[in-house]
Amino acid sequence: MPIKCLIIGSGPAGYTAAIYASRAGLQPVVLEGLQPGGQLTTTTEVENFPGYPQGVDGNQLMADLRSQAERFGADIRFGMAVKVDLGSQPYRVWTDDGTELVSDTIIIATGASAKYLGLPDEEKYRGQGVSACATCDGFFYRGKTVAVVGGGDTACEEASYLAGLASKVYVIVRKPYLRATKVMQERIASNPKIEILFEHNATGLYGDNGVEGVHLVHRKGETDERRYDLPIDGFFLAIGHHPNSDLFRQWLEVDANGYIITEGASTRTVLPGVFAAGDVADPVYRQGVVAAGAGAKAAIEAERYLANLYSQS
Ligand code: NDP
Repeated sequence: MPIKCLIIGSGPAGYTAAIYASRAGLQPVVLEGLQPGGQLTTTTEVENFPGYPQGVDGNQLMADLRSQAERFGADIRFGMAVKVDLGSQPYRVWTDDGTELVSDTIIIATGASAKYLGLPDEEKYRGQGVSACATCDGFFYRGKTVAVVGGGDTACEEASYLAGLASKVYVIVRKPYLRATKVMQERIASNPKIEILFEHNATGLYGDNGVEGVHLVHRKGETDERRYDLPIDGFFLAIGHHPNSDLFRQWLEVDANGYIITEGASTRTVLPGVFAAGDVADPVYRQGVVAAGAGAKAAIEAERYLANLYSQS
């Protein structure tokens, strides 16, 4: 017997889909993936998820969603989907340990991953001073000097977090302004440990024992260019994310940036019984609460789809 509903991914979209699908009697199987709990487990305090007037720790929020899904019977499995066959129904998915799962519906909730600049030095020093997760690695930079690349909310959040540990935090911003929301901008502007380097680009890193500094270019207008080296101990990337849709691109429609395209306001993809929810299908909002909402929609749509499918057989 095929699984009724296979949910791939365990961020707010995946776990919320699991809560709804379990309560609807679909006995969902959830494949947690490489980072159980998803991106929110890499942030500190989540202040904008409704229902938590004092904010909530990202790990705690995800642990709560997971246990809520388990309470209603979701079968949550450790494992990563490495291959899919969406060529015919029921659909087939293989996990990293070689297990084959066969399912009538699939909810893709694989989220998005941090982007890197693409400098060879990022690879060279990865784990030795280069990170895309301040809350995972900030601990190692207590009393040290770090740089965060990016001018969005993530960069501001990471910079604020790191300022609580490091002695000095530079924020490297390529434009003459920040893209972040006003409240986040004000937060970093008022922090005496944080210095924003506008119109700066990182071109490389140096150091014999891990990162010891960053090569910078300061460009003002067309002609004014200054290159210099800035000593730092840690280099944090916060320049956005790319959707984790590689596995599905052969079968589904994706946009120019790889986000899975869904039909109108639904989570339906071009394939019957395959739904996409959360950051993997959301180039616009990319918020935990929006992902959770999309997970609920996907489960409801899966339930309706299955009711129709089973009534015909
Ligand atoms: P964003 O896409 O909003 O910002 C990315 C930043 O990185 C921009 O400043 C961008 O510069 C810069 N950047 C991108 N590529 C490069 C590059 N190659 N070199 C240098 N700089 C680069 O991503 P975020 O991750 O910050 O945020 C994503 C979404 O999540 C947003 O909607 C945000 O509001 C939300 N968010 C909300 C939070 C909260 O409310 N607590 C916390 C974190 C995120 P440029 O401006 O020049 O394009």
